[in-house]
Amino acid sequence: MDNFFTEGDRVWLREEDQFLPGSVSSCSGGVVVFATDYGQVYTYKQNALTRQKVQPMHHSSVRGVEDMATLEDLHDGAIMHNLYQRYQQRQIYTYIGSILAAVNPYQPLPGLYDRPTIELYSRHHLGEISPHIFAVANDCYRSLWRRQQNQCVLISGESGAGKTESTKLILRFLSAMSQHSLEVSCRDKTSHVEEALLESSPIMEAFGNAKTVYNNNSSRFGKFVQLHFNQKGNIQGGRIVDCILSNSNRVVRQNPGERNYHIFYAILAGANNQQRAEAFGLTRPESYHYLRQSSCTEDKTINDSSTFQDVLVPSAMQTMQFTEENIREVLRLLAGILHAGNIEFMTAGGAQVASKSALSWTSELLGLNSEQLAEVLTHRSMILRGEEISTPLTVEQAVDSRDSMAMALYSQCFNWIIHKLNHRIRGKEDFKSISILDIFGFENFEVNRFEQFNINYANEKLQEYFNKHIFSLEQLEYNKEGLVWVDINWMDNAECLDLIEKVSNKLGLLALMNEESHFPKATDDTLLEKLHSQHSKNPFYVKPRVAVHLFGVRHYAGEVVYDVRGMLEKNRDTFRDDILNMLRESRSVGWMCFQTGGIFMRLDFVYDLFEHVLSRNKQDTLKSSTKHRRPTVSSQFKISTTYLQDSLHSLMATLSTSNPYFIRCIKPNTHKMPDQFDQTVVLNQLRYSGMLETVKIRRSGFPVRRSFQDFCSRLNLASCVLQIQLHGAIQSPCRRLRVFMSIHVVQDGLQVFLRESLEQRLEKQRKQYRRL
Ligand code: ADP
Ligand code: MG
Repeated sequence: MDNFFTEGDRVWLREEDQFLPGSVSSCSGGVVVFATDYGQVYTYKQNALTRQKVQPMHHSSVRGVEDMATLEDLHDGAIMHNLYQRYQQRQIYTYIGSILAAVNPYQPLPGLYDRPTIELYSRHHLGEISPHIFAVANDCYRSLWRRQQNQCVLISGESGAGKTESTKLILRFLSAMSQHSLEVSCRDKTSHVEEALLESSPIMEAFGNAKTVYNNNSSRFGKFVQLHFNQKGNIQGGRIVDCILSNSNRVVRQNPGERNYHIFYAILAGANNQQRAEAFGLTRPESYHYLRQSSCTEDKTINDSSTFQDVLVPSAMQTMQFTEENIREVLRLLAGILHAGNIEFMTAGGAQVASKSALSWTSELLGLNSEQLAEVLTHRSMILRGEEISTPLTVEQAVDSRDSMAMALYSQCFNWIIHKLNHRIRGKEDFKSISILDIFGFENFEVNRFEQFNINYANEKLQEYFNKHIFSLEQLEYNKEGLVWVDINWMDNAECLDLIEKVSNKLGLLALMNEESHFPKATDDTLLEKLHSQHSKNPFYVKPRVAVHLFGVRHYAGEVVYDVRGMLEKNRDTFRDDILNMLRESRSVGWMCFQTGGIFMRLDFVYDLFEHVLSRNKQDTLKSSTKHRRPTVSSQFKISTTYLQDSLHSLMATLSTSNPYFIRCIKPNTHKMPDQFDQTVVLNQLRYSGMLETVKIRRSGFPVRRSFQDFCSRLNLASCVLQIQLHGAIQSPCRRLRVFMSIHVVQDGLQVFLRESLEQRLEKQRKQYRRL
């Protein structure tokens, strides 16, 4: 019998639904042994069936490629293998055309982001040298002029995949470019915007990030950073929009193994003894209910005292123009929240405050009257027909009012900080902008609640945007222009989004939640009943057979089961008016200065947060087409689905006017470990993010589009002699171009479609040509 295989051959083994890369390790006596690169060994008989199961590996896969649009083997296995090979060589970046795949190395890679590397990438077109996030940032920057359009970078990936790090790297690169664009003499003058932008990251992270099981520094808020450039390429200003606030529930409750926001631990680790003990009455994290519930108060990879140094010492905050007084006010507020968490209640008719010391620390630090505070936490007062009625609360309700006050204080403080940062980086907007979107990644915990529902919905929207740009609009355009084209099947998440968002016919999940929230007698159980009865036949909805409080959604990234308990309450816009009023009145108590640890302080910070920040915040949100649905005052402390939906829609509207760049961050393992590439974990991410389909469409499609006029003038071509000139001046790449152009040259107003690789080559040659 003929040997089909020779020892050493590189092959693909088709096992179950996967293509595994491997080599022929022996081949004799009608038996062939394969060893896969991932450590498995398979022994097959040499027969026709084996021949079907085993395919030769194309040399592009054997060698590995920098741009996966040039892979000849088109399956998930080839993509994963390519990423794996590169990852082993510490090459974490790989292109798919101009889309960047980034595998998190979970370790610092020396020299990868230093100054010479920035310089190097600023001098090369995308694709000329090895793939890098700086190359994408550089292309995006150059596109401001090339396309005369605003640009945006969308960074997606699961929690912990590297989105926030990528955002910071892009900011670093763009800041360097901005500096470059200036005359040497004025570099110092304008450097403050870039400096402030870079400085804003640690501040936002301290207040907005926390340790979760997925990521020790997980962003709990969505961030949209806009940089405004002038015609010369210099950053003149910026804006940070915390467009999709995750809910601030974490302030009062954390899952096992997770922590509260970094800033709380930073104060305890970093403040000096006098501040900590005398001024704020603080001790160790374990003493605070808001920090100890998860039995996790520290992590060896997180340096809390250096966070304090980076963020809360005057020198660091000075760059952002926070005064010493501002910092003290923030510290007092945070300490006040910690003490508030320790206010316990007992039953005596109704709830009564049982911990006087915590109550008095809280009221002193927040500038509240302690009796009023105790009253509002244990009683609910309402005005009914002009009369004030006060109802005693149960202990459980009192705990809820305490927690909702703490959450409101924290979220207003966060808003105030973002507002301060924005004030600092604001500048002229007279040319174009680059926006970077870094949202919290897809999450699927053991128990998933309202927060995960919101996060996953936001990710679903982002995936929709990706799909629309990469697949849907693209193919529509080809068909419109009469391009000969075989449509690529991609995984559309429209039906899943319909299940969540739809308002006509059957109400979607969001609408049902909102409807139930407005119905006073509704409970989580009635909500669940409605969800089940409306949607149990929907293929994207899951009604678990046994579990009582659960419903599931088949998201693009996998099925997630949500616990309905607490959802309704969290979605209700019911921050109590009486608590709000008490906080607003805090000024009357704190108006006078009083002495703490030798420092005179004003005590109207809380008043300020609740009275002024609300109006200021409006300037920091995105311009929305749904302005009339702006949240009410009290709903700003809670993240209702209506608010989330509106902010996502306005975000998408802003993005749709920009030219997008996509960065797909990939987590190589779930243990946050370096040098571990878990095939199952990676394959799953590649599949749901549509990586294979992306490779296919980038491989055969023409994603670059120019108006014919613009194309000709940029390449300095007279359209009538286009073909001749192209042939003469640019040579090799234009053979393909010429074939394609010939379809379009004849009509006015048509577009030129190009492959990305061709555009890169043309741009490069244009540069060389101009130098001659
Ligand atoms: P995400 O924002 O996607 O949740 P992060 O950007 O916070 O994830 O990354 C999680 C962690 O992974 C970081 O704290 C860092 O330790 C590591 N990491 C991410 N990107 C890189 C990188 N390019 N180089 C080295 N480590 C990285
Ligand atoms: Mg993040």
